[in-house]
Amino acid sequence: MTQTRTTCPYCGVGCGVMVERNADGRIRVQGDPDHPANFGRLCSKGSALADTLGPDDRLLYPEWRDREGPAQRVSWNFALDTIANTFARLRAEHGPQAIAFYASGQMLTEDYYVANKLMKGFIGSANIDTNSRLCMASAVAGHVRAFGADLVPTAYSDLEQADLVVLSGANVAWCHPVLFQRLKAAKEQRRSLQIIVIDPRRTETCVIADQHLPLAPGSDVWLWQGLLTHLAQYGQLDFAFLERHVDGWADSIAAARAAAPNLSTVAQRCGLNEEAVLRFYRAFAGTAKVVTAFSQGVNQSSCGTDKVSAILNAHLATGRIGKLGAGPFSLTGQPNAMGGREVGGMASTLAAHLTFAPAHRQLLQTFWSAPHLVSAPGLKAVDLFDAIADGQIKAVWIMATNPVVSLPNADKVRAALRRCDLVIASDFVRHTDTVELAHLRLPALAWGEKSGTVTNSERRISRQRAFLPAPGEAKPDWWAICEVGKRLGYAEAFAFQGPHEIFREHAQLTAFENHGERPLNLAAMAALTESDYDRLQPRQWPANTATDSSERLFADGIFATTNRRARMQALTPRPPVNAVSDTYPLALNTGRVRDQWHTMTRTARATKLNAHQSEPLLHVHPGDATRYGLRAGEFTRLASRWGEALLRVQIDDSLRRGNVFVPMHWSDAFSARARIGAVINPDRDPDSGQPEFKHTPVLVQAVPMTWHGFLIQRAPLWQAPQTRYWARIPAMACTRYELADDALHGAASAPDMSIERLMQRVFAGQLPEGERMAWGDPARAAYRAAWLQQGRVEACLFIAPSAQLPDRLWLQSLFDKPALSGEERRALLSGQPPRGSVSSGAIVCACFAVGEQTLRRHIRNGCRTPAALTRACQAGGNCGSCLPALQRLIDGEPVSGVPA
Ligand code: SF4
Repeated sequence: MTQTRTTCPYCGVGCGVMVERNADGRIRVQGDPDHPANFGRLCSKGSALADTLGPDDRLLYPEWRDREGPAQRVSWNFALDTIANTFARLRAEHGPQAIAFYASGQMLTEDYYVANKLMKGFIGSANIDTNSRLCMASAVAGHVRAFGADLVPTAYSDLEQADLVVLSGANVAWCHPVLFQRLKAAKEQRRSLQIIVIDPRRTETCVIADQHLPLAPGSDVWLWQGLLTHLAQYGQLDFAFLERHVDGWADSIAAARAAAPNLSTVAQRCGLNEEAVLRFYRAFAGTAKVVTAFSQGVNQSSCGTDKVSAILNAHLATGRIGKLGAGPFSLTGQPNAMGGREVGGMASTLAAHLTFAPAHRQLLQTFWSAPHLVSAPGLKAVDLFDAIADGQIKAVWIMATNPVVSLPNADKVRAALRRCDLVIASDFVRHTDTVELAHLRLPALAWGEKSGTVTNSERRISRQRAFLPAPGEAKPDWWAICEVGKRLGYAEAFAFQGPHEIFREHAQLTAFENHGERPLNLAAMAALTESDYDRLQPRQWPANTATDSSERLFADGIFATTNRRARMQALTPRPPVNAVSDTYPLALNTGRVRDQWHTMTRTARATKLNAHQSEPLLHVHPGDATRYGLRAGEFTRLASRWGEALLRVQIDDSLRRGNVFVPMHWSDAFSARARIGAVINPDRDPDSGQPEFKHTPVLVQAVPMTWHGFLIQRAPLWQAPQTRYWARIPAMACTRYELADDALHGAASAPDMSIERLMQRVFAGQLPEGERMAWGDPARAAYRAAWLQQGRVEACLFIAPSAQLPDRLWLQSLFDKPALSGEERRALLSGQPPRGSVSSGAIVCACFAVGEQTLRRHIRNGCRTPAALTRACQAGGNCGSCLPALQRLIDGEPVSGVPA
């Protein structure tokens, strides 16, 4: 058995993971008890990492595909020569701006470093942006405004040491689950720790909150400006700190007083009641140790940078920064968003937190000996893809991300890639919405195969270590980038022999001519040998010396601006660019679900992660559902000015009236028309360029379906069903397809077509051969069929005129059995478990597959705490991600609503 210490590849918590690999190849994943981010904890996604490994749908060899033809395997030499020759030609004919890279917070720091170096120093284009633009750009811009550099002052321990934690636009229970667990444990130990959640939705994070402020989307700046007014009015400003360490505070306070002069203005602008606002203000004003943790609810906005500045203003004005248990805390979404920012992997920054100021450019020019160092920022993500659409950018290299799904106005992104001369995609997955459009597909390494470093939200650098061999001809991204650099004539600059050499150069650059003015300093790591790098322990930066302590920044009141003083901002609040209207009367908010990650290319491989929320759902307030004629479990067309989606309806009273919510994860690979990026408006923050994912004006319309159904089949379909709606749900020994259609009518309306023939058309001959049992009622468009082979179920299909269909989970469990019992066989077409078996209901605990009905039965039998439920049925006893849901069930609240 081998044991490897590595890091989880999902969220910005950056949990340490211990991987055990047995001689027979079996892999076991546990939390690393010694890693300071998680101390052994993992969430549902981290716990399921071993299930995401494997050969399914891997891109194993470089492939070339002309626009119309099939993909053909090519050699790495062909691929790399094609890239280098095309880049050289485009640079000669159109200039370097015709070339772009689009990178990802999933990449390792070393991959990011060489990508940025090649583009900004040697190709001569700053058109390298990243999907971090979609999640962290406003935090970066806010930090630079206030502190002079992109610096997160706080550490995870501050969340536990604070007396008040404000969670603003951060559903940590689902998006940073291990931080949620740490916070929950801290509150259980110290009841005086207050937690206030600011979020338009009553998320599962509210389970541990003392107060929830369900503010109107986009109104955050009014709320925080009102706090500044309140602090000034009640003598709560730290004038000594302001005088010594902060510029701009008088103007900032004056602007707050002008915009948010009193509680009534704030309450009206934010859609809150005055008492609730006052309670928050008094809690902040009366508590010295306050941490405000914020995430996408703040950043993903057309005024995201101002929202960040408004939070930072409150902390600077009260001196609540740089102290134990006090400070603003940007929680990064991705595992290496922070590392990408450190190496300048965004169009608006240079490596090592250097700026485009002449002195910094000179420094970088000297260090890199760069022949074509860029002089100005490049195009940010949305603008970059607009430039591809316009034909200004003629070649783009997309690495480890899926912009056809994740960017706003995503249909335009798809059209842009279709017209681009050369699209290169580096990915470990063969079929994603983006890889499908690439001319050149480069096989990348997956988690467990690649090696390098990542930096988490608290500036802690950790190693990702390989424990599996590279499959096929998959290669590290850094290697492919360096090979292109060499072919472009820059062999010396890209002669790295391994990620340790790249990391060492990155560390050396942070220390180069750094006399203390740049806090990002890794001098202590600038001479690491390969074996030092292999043994590298998790470490926060700054890391100037081997022993310095860097847990939190600004303890001395010294900032990274030229005069070393922080800068408060004078802000004028503004609403979202596109307001709701009579035509588009609802505001669409998007975000994550508990058990999926990004566009599901990895998490959907772990079948237990597909059980909690299996389908793309539109969450709508009961009042709005009534108003627009939407019914739970049925379907709605969601449309904006930019695009539309087809989604199943979930009634959800945790939303404000007038708001709807849709998860961000579903792509065309997993559902027919649920790629929500196509609906999202392309408005963005003028400073950060971050898109407004939290507010798109939309309309909803009920879509009556003629029939509903599902197919569960052992072998996945090779071609999507021909139905208006389908969703693909990989399960343990089978794949389930949820189906609905309004166009292909049943036998009653198409008498010449039996349901059986109709189904052959829907599935295009993909239903199995073998023994078949069937039952049908043509007049009602109802049909049930099951296929068996040697007593083993191969497929079952249920069609009905309404969404009321049998329990899928019991049927799915039959596929785990080598042969059905006589009783199960008889029960199969009824869709009901044999007498004596009980349905578990929609899955709540993914680790132990415990369903809602099972939990309700235990609650009825006297389990009144999550711990009691864990004792009764294990739910919540592994990763703990479902503990908030257990509490909600105990409190009598709904947790699923998924048609199970
Ligand atoms: Fe991974 Fe979960 Fe930890 Fe995030 S909280 S790093 S997803 S285990």
